[in-house]
Amino acid sequence: MKRHLVIACAAVSLFCACQKQQKFQYSVDKFYDLEILRYDVPAFDELTLQQKILVYYLSEAALQGRDILFDQNGRYNLRIRRALEALYCNYPYSKSTDEFAAFERYLKRVWFSNGIHHHYSEDKFLPEFTQDWFVEACRKAGVTYDEAILPVMFDPSVMPKRTTQQDGVDLVANSAGNYYGEGITQAEAEKWYEDHKDNSAEPLWIGLNSQLVKNENGEIVERVYKVGGLYGEALEKVVYWLRKAYEVAENDEQRAAIAKMIEFNETGDLKAFNEYCIAWVKDLNSRVDYVNGFTETYSDPLGITGTWESLVNFKDLEATKRTQLISDNAQWFEDNSPTDPRFKKEEVKGVTAKVITAAILAGDCYPATPIGINLPNASWIRKDYGSKSVTIDNLMHAYNEAAKGNGFNEEFMIDDNIREICNLYGAMCNDLHTDLHECVGHGSGKLMPGVGKDALKEHASTIEEARADLFGLYYLADPKLVELGLLPNMDAYKAAYYQQQMNGAMTQLVRIEPGKDIEEAHMRNRQLIANWVLDNVTLTAPELAIVERDGKHYLQILDYQGLRRLYGKLLAEIQRITSEGDYPAAKAMVEKYAVKVDPDLHKEVLERYAALNLAPYKGFINPVYSPVRDHDGNITDVKIDFTEGYIEQHLRYSRDYSNLPDIN
Ligand code: ZN
Repeated sequence: MKRHLVIACAAVSLFCACQKQQKFQYSVDKFYDLEILRYDVPAFDELTLQQKILVYYLSEAALQGRDILFDQNGRYNLRIRRALEALYCNYPYSKSTDEFAAFERYLKRVWFSNGIHHHYSEDKFLPEFTQDWFVEACRKAGVTYDEAILPVMFDPSVMPKRTTQQDGVDLVANSAGNYYGEGITQAEAEKWYEDHKDNSAEPLWIGLNSQLVKNENGEIVERVYKVGGLYGEALEKVVYWLRKAYEVAENDEQRAAIAKMIEFNETGDLKAFNEYCIAWVKDLNSRVDYVNGFTETYSDPLGITGTWESLVNFKDLEATKRTQLISDNAQWFEDNSPTDPRFKKEEVKGVTAKVITAAILAGDCYPATPIGINLPNASWIRKDYGSKSVTIDNLMHAYNEAAKGNGFNEEFMIDDNIREICNLYGAMCNDLHTDLHECVGHGSGKLMPGVGKDALKEHASTIEEARADLFGLYYLADPKLVELGLLPNMDAYKAAYYQQQMNGAMTQLVRIEPGKDIEEAHMRNRQLIANWVLDNVTLTAPELAIVERDGKHYLQILDYQGLRRLYGKLLAEIQRITSEGDYPAAKAMVEKYAVKVDPDLHKEVLERYAALNLAPYKGFINPVYSPVRDHDGNITDVKIDFTEGYIEQHLRYSRDYSNLPDIN
């Protein structure tokens, strides 16, 4: 196969912030429904030299995996990205035309989505330039490409969806994601997983790190992600930098975990992965930490195979005191939750919680990124060894700073009173809700004997996220939080309640195109909660309502403690569904409350939002780390720089970290 080399080009920095600027510039670029932010890395200079070097090595290990995600998201993505980048760098015409602007927007979007499907809706987006224009421009620029990419880019009927969750269709055959080879059906893949399932006490997560394909005899075989296997060229580089990180690890626990991660990448052995997870959970005292590998399974339509991601971070010592307090009280939260005692954990253990500062984002954490992480995902490891839960404060801070004064609250909140509460306590409540969600929410509750982790099948993610969110919402209004000093008074939680309900029932619809259903698990969960409580208000004295004023709809909350009781009731039911693995109830609840959108309300929200001229999705650019060396080549310092622009960053990544061939 011919491999396109990305021609290095000194891209003009269109969006570069001035280095000497007094104020940190958070907002960098805006196109389509996306806004690019920059995040600060406070306290990097407080790290020891060894810790800085460790961050640098781990950040290189993170960036080396970039191509893997593009290929997982679609088998044509690398070919498309490289053709676009080659054309961008050798563009043969004047750049001050509408066509060039449309072309540049499309390329920026491909980078943002790590492919040609929207990172959130997962729908394919189409170029605003024609195929003829593209073909002619490439010809003139001398850019060669595989003709097969043309219908994939331009024909709306080809690969329209990255991961479909639509009922009644073959999820594997109708998803463009590259987790299954061509010609494999959902039934065949499910049967393969069923046949190979590990039912031992410490089960291997079969399928986590592989693609299923058909061999020449029509049998299904696994192509394992490992050095020498699928994505081996990239994983080899990842391992190279992990080895360097191993040399400067902070302590034995961290060294042990890195060693297992290296072994897993080299062998693909899932037993090594389990050992890595356990070692990683035990590594609690290091300042620097990381995620690197095949992790979340949302993008596989069957929820088995992990998407490659990396996040390098270090502990925010001050803010971690906050989550430590929550974690120290984990048993109290478990004992006092409104769920049936049969579903409670007798002993909640290993809930470690920390607040971190992100230092580099990569793979499925970049440019769009989660604000909290709770790993590992294997439920038996979580049960026996605990899990690590983090909230990423510097990213939350960047979101808040970039959103200040954008007019959103003025448009959508019902009155000055709630606006004032949200201004005062909104950011604090968001942080705290994320902490509760990650530190005690996901870790709470237990499954009844014989109930498997996949009992709720395609609805498992939505139900699990709802469970963790409700756990957090329920406790935000508990006097215990004021007693612990986590909230200043019994008004503060109202910000979280108003924001959850307004977002879940109305404003998150800005992320959905007219006529579309909600498909993403977190969005489904938020609407499920919002619409369930609206549907279950006390008829004689409604706790909340959607009211109309001058032709616009607003959320009104009349009884906040009453709303808390509704959250408690729903939490109890969601916990029951989870603990008993009640698939029909999960399906009924998701279908009734989480998926469908009221078209009139949707239209209104979109119009009001459009008038504000804001982007509903945010993503980030990374800082640049550069080692400073002495005469002998020893690293004497690591410098951090924030001046790189969005386009420059992606072109540099494509030049320096382009590890995979076009076709894998
Ligand atoms: Zn979650």
